[in-house]
Amino acid sequence: MLNYFKEIFVGIKSLLIGMKVTAFYGTKRTITAHYPFEKIPVTLNFRGHIDLVVTKKGYHKCITCGMCERACPSGCITLDSVKPEGAKKKKLTGYTLDFTKCSLCGNCVETCPTNAIKYSNDYYLVGTSRHDFHFDLLDRAMKAAEEMGIEWTEPVEKPKEPKEPQAEGGESPSPAGA
Ligand code: SF4
Ligand code: SF4
Repeated sequence: MLNYFKEIFVGIKSLLIGMKVTAFYGTKRTITAHYPFEKIPVTLNFRGHIDLVVTKKGYHKCITCGMCERACPSGCITLDSVKPEGAKKKKLTGYTLDFTKCSLCGNCVETCPTNAIKYSNDYYLVGTSRHDFHFDLLDRAMKAAEEMGIEWTEPVEKPKEPKEPQAEGGESPSPAGA
């Protein structure tokens, strides 16, 4: 008989302890996010896939040197460029990243001489096929500029200065009175 009441007492005590814990956490501020409706902001040092940096003038900083492509140990980067007739510099026409092969080693970012690439903070990546992770970074940069309210503006290359005719004997003509 004594055991019977003892068990009831232990049961009620355990129930009250449980309710106390529930009441304590039930009245505290929610610290979980209602994913996917809510997203947690990522820290600044988060390494997502790479992206082209968009300048304030609304263009990328890539000079198509190809160093990132050569530095990538996994062959994730494919660059396309053309040299328009009469132009001094090549123009970037495509920058593709195969993120399925990327190890986020950072070689490309560290190698770039113009700091033209950065890590994105894009962690919300879902896809139904590996092709969903082949990113056109040039297209992404244009869309990023649009989201930032910046017009995508290709810099105009200065025309080549015509060379001054060489004087006989190979010396440049001296200015009058010199
Ligand atoms: S982070 Fe590394 S693996 Fe990924 S694209 Fe850059 S160099 Fe290649
Ligand atoms: S290393 Fe930088 S500048 Fe050179 S091709 Fe890659 S992104 Fe462009």
